[in-house]
Amino acid sequence: MEQYHEIAPSGGFAEVILPLAVAKVYTYSIPPELAPYVQPGMRVEVEFGGRKLYAGIVYRITSDQPPFRTKPILAVLDEQAVINPTTLQFWKWLADYYCCTMGEVMEAAFPAYLKLTSERRLVLDANFDPNEPGLDDKEYLIAEALQIQESITVDDVRKILNQKTVMPLIKRMMEKGIVSIYEELQEKYKPKKVACVRLAEPYRSTPDLLSEAFDLCARAPRQTETLMAFIAISKALKQPLDSTKGLLRQQVYDKASADSSILRAMEKKGIFELFERSVSRVGGEERDLDDMKTLAPLQEEALVEIEKAFEEKQVVLLHGVTGSGKTRLYVELVNKAIAEGKQVLYLLPEVALTTQVVERLRKIFGNKIAVYHHRVSQQERVELWQLVLDAGTSPSANQVSGQAPAAGSIVLGARSALFLPFSKLGLVIVDEEHDSSYKQQDPAPRYHGRDAAIYLAHLHGAKVLLGTATPAIESYYNARKGKYGLVELNERFGGVAMPDIQLVDLRKEARERKLQSYFSSVLLDELKAALERGEQAILFKNRRGYAPTIRCASCGWHAECIHCDVSLTYHKHQNNLRCHYCGYSTPVPVACPACGNNELKLQGYGTQKVEDELKIYLPDARIARMDYDAVKTKDAHQRIINDFEERRVDILVGTQMVTKGLDFENVGVVGVLSADHILQFPDFRSAERGFQLIVQVAGRAGRKDKQGKVIVQAMNVTHPVLREILEHDFKAFYEREIMERKAFAYPPFARLIKVTLKHKKPDILNRGARAFTTYLRKNLGNRVLGPAVPPVGRVRNFFLLDLLIKLERKPSLWAEAKEHIRKATYHMQKEAGFSNVRVNVDVDPV
Ligand code: ADP
Ligand code: ZN
Ligand code: ZN
Repeated sequence: MEQYHEIAPSGGFAEVILPLAVAKVYTYSIPPELAPYVQPGMRVEVEFGGRKLYAGIVYRITSDQPPFRTKPILAVLDEQAVINPTTLQFWKWLADYYCCTMGEVMEAAFPAYLKLTSERRLVLDANFDPNEPGLDDKEYLIAEALQIQESITVDDVRKILNQKTVMPLIKRMMEKGIVSIYEELQEKYKPKKVACVRLAEPYRSTPDLLSEAFDLCARAPRQTETLMAFIAISKALKQPLDSTKGLLRQQVYDKASADSSILRAMEKKGIFELFERSVSRVGGEERDLDDMKTLAPLQEEALVEIEKAFEEKQVVLLHGVTGSGKTRLYVELVNKAIAEGKQVLYLLPEVALTTQVVERLRKIFGNKIAVYHHRVSQQERVELWQLVLDAGTSPSANQVSGQAPAAGSIVLGARSALFLPFSKLGLVIVDEEHDSSYKQQDPAPRYHGRDAAIYLAHLHGAKVLLGTATPAIESYYNARKGKYGLVELNERFGGVAMPDIQLVDLRKEARERKLQSYFSSVLLDELKAALERGEQAILFKNRRGYAPTIRCASCGWHAECIHCDVSLTYHKHQNNLRCHYCGYSTPVPVACPACGNNELKLQGYGTQKVEDELKIYLPDARIARMDYDAVKTKDAHQRIINDFEERRVDILVGTQMVTKGLDFENVGVVGVLSADHILQFPDFRSAERGFQLIVQVAGRAGRKDKQGKVIVQAMNVTHPVLREILEHDFKAFYEREIMERKAFAYPPFARLIKVTLKHKKPDILNRGARAFTTYLRKNLGNRVLGPAVPPVGRVRNFFLLDLLIKLERKPSLWAEAKEHIRKATYHMQKEAGFSNVRVNVDVDPV
């Protein structure tokens, strides 16, 4: 011990988080000359693993001498912490709860611009002028190297300058706009365009001449109406008629029930000019703010209830039917929170962020709102990071009432926005809280956005509002038990009737030879009628329907596992049926065990096929498709939505995507092509998912002032979930579902951890898995299910095996189980010798 004291510098020690999957934080010594500058949350330059450089984050400072030799911190990069103590605490919780390392959390959470490592590539900043004077010798050398080589790594900088520490220099060069980080495959930021309309000349500069324009449309009443609408909206927005900014075409369509053909005709007459205007996605451009609409009486009541519930509960679940005006309530709560000088985090599922909701909120909050999701460029991310950080530390933080809240005090984002360094978070809104895309799948941390939001809010003493028309079973259970407050909105805004849902028996249609391809006569008739009325339609086809199952063509029988409450999946290679939960498998039967018919069919079809077939039956309809393939290219998603909104498309065929964050006004019919595919996915959550999906997609029908029609096609029309959907009866669904969860010991009555083992060779994987499982069973017994081959048994040449660990709800067991998993991993990799078998842990899988 003595000798350590001798070599130990007097500056103390720092535990540093490195952006790596290493298991723990590493301890470095703080050289005395750096000691006054090192604080938790700052970045420091350190060496790790040979001579590699990393910018790590100081997690903790301690005077405790570790029992090993420490390397020194080489440099301190920041003058102020880039993350605050609460954020560090949140990271620690994420790592512990979701069984990953702090480094993995840092990797996911930190903007790339703040993450420097030896391998990180630098490029000349796009705005750098090589003739610019004022570079010092070192900066000059680096800039010169970059003119020759285009990009160099942090390590190259070290070699060029022949010095040990380089990150402070690089950081300075980034701040001066000389170099920037090379963004691999980063989609270049493109502003979004919106369709606008303004008066053409001479009417714009001389509104007195407008009477002439009215004369021009004297014989076209709809054109007259449109021109009047334009004037009325301008007035309402307090925008002069001579403004070149114009109005959103959509606003005009809404007000005058016009469409693009009318505006085009008026453009030809020289009355209007149609043009596109760019709007920034992230920062706040100045815009027309919508007047806040007054709350309807039911909304008023709900607001009072929510606020009352917040007096006692941290979390409130707002269960409001589709179209009940939940967004309007969120706005009210957000306004109150920012008026108190708090920060607000408003979470949406990823897909919903690229749609209309963002526009709606922008119009209300202007530049107080900042948007954060995967399409935001790295540069903008780091700007937003700084904005959120500053919002917490600036003096205006303790703002006096009446003062405008800081830009970025409201963050609208996908789950990753949780990682931003909030310091005075007052409210978190989790919209569509039931959405399973809140769960991160890969890579670690495999966190659930909603659950992590609740913990984050807890750290800040902030409130959480979960909003949805179809609550997750777990959330509703928590609300029923009194853990969360519960507020319900059972009517649509404006008293619009809930959509009329009709169930169509596909087998009956087939028997009567009325079924055409995937479409029942009922659906085709409704579609035709809607098109004749000038309405639009949405057809929904579940994406997960691709998972092949075997079904009897005459009685609808399908194979189920004898141990679990799930359907079996067909595996072509082995020609058998398998359970993805417990691994049970059985040969494909030659005939239907229920009715003896030997016509067993393989199921699974896609949206592309639906679109093609639909064209045959409705040759005149304008059809578009929205699924993951169709929106691969940038902006395609927005284009499809615009086309549909502006009525250039009659029927939109889509997957889950069409259920998220969309609010179309002219949709008369919604068709669900196959409810069976949704309800029989091999998963204990399939009924819940099915209920949510169908109710959400049905909610797209008839949202303005008329009732919409929903056609749900199914083979097995007796499925109890379908009845509950028809009757809009969430409570009945919940009661039945919660009984099943209890009977089969699934969440919320048990907690699940899924462990996935991976290796390129199946035999090594199998033997490793045996070692892992045997070890784990010794400690956790039959709580360990599997190993079983997952639905996709090989990914990128890695074979996979899943174990499911089912734990009764006992707090001590939860922590123990995670420890057992760590030990089993160690046992398999270190003691049994399967060091290359990888282990992914997924806590609370969805
Ligand atoms: P939800 O999110 O609950 O499905 P929305 O918030 O989308 O419902 O509201 C449904 C429709 O009702 C939207 O078109 C919205 O603009 C309108 N709406 C909601 N509240 C009000 C209000 N207080 N005044 C005017 N219109 C409202
Ligand atoms: Zn049968
Ligand atoms: Zn099973």
